[in-house]
Amino acid sequence: MDFNSHADVIVRVAVGLVNELTPGERRGRPFPAPSDLAAAATEGLRTGYPGHREVTEDEAGELAGIAVRLRAVFDAVATGDIDAAALRVNALLEETRARPLLQRHDGEPWHLHFHGPGGTVAGEWAASCATGLAIVLGGDFRDRLGVCTAPQCDRVYVDVSRNGTRRFCGTACQNRVKTAAFRARGRVS
Ligand SMILES: [Zn+2]
Repeated sequence: MDFNSHADVIVRVAVGLVNELTPGERRGRPFPAPSDLAAAATEGLRTGYPGHREVTEDEAGELAGIAVRLRAVFDAVATGDIDAAALRVNALLEETRARPLLQRHDGEPWHLHFHGPGGTVAGEWAASCATGLAIVLGGDFRDRLGVCTAPQCDRVYVDVSRNGTRRFCGTACQNRVKTAAFRARGRVS
């Protein structure tokens, strides 16, 4: 049962922003900071919210800063440091002054938003993403935020599988690791 689908959406947006905007590695290759920041930020938002409008370069810059802070939460959970993750989320909640508000728009029924008072796109998504991660960290599935464990990949994910055994950002990395393991076995025998 899904009691709060909006929380699922904003956690997916958090994953999208981190994966599109923070440099590092992706699927075995270096992942540099995006050259087209606005396109990358829009892509990140559309990971969870497909109808999101294109953001401006300024908005994208702000979102990139938020993405770095969100990544730190995933990193902390991945290393088992839930305390650090919680403190980081609390700091974001305080800064963005995230607050719940029922809203009804675009023909949807009343649903809960978690917006800050600033009214900027980046500020509102920062408040929303912080709240989404707070809901995850405050629940039974607090260890479901993860960083890909494949070699040369640090993209993040949220594990919504029933048994919670996800270890990779996606099937591409899962297959890379499987193939490497298969080859390694071949060499041994
Ligand atoms: Zn990966």
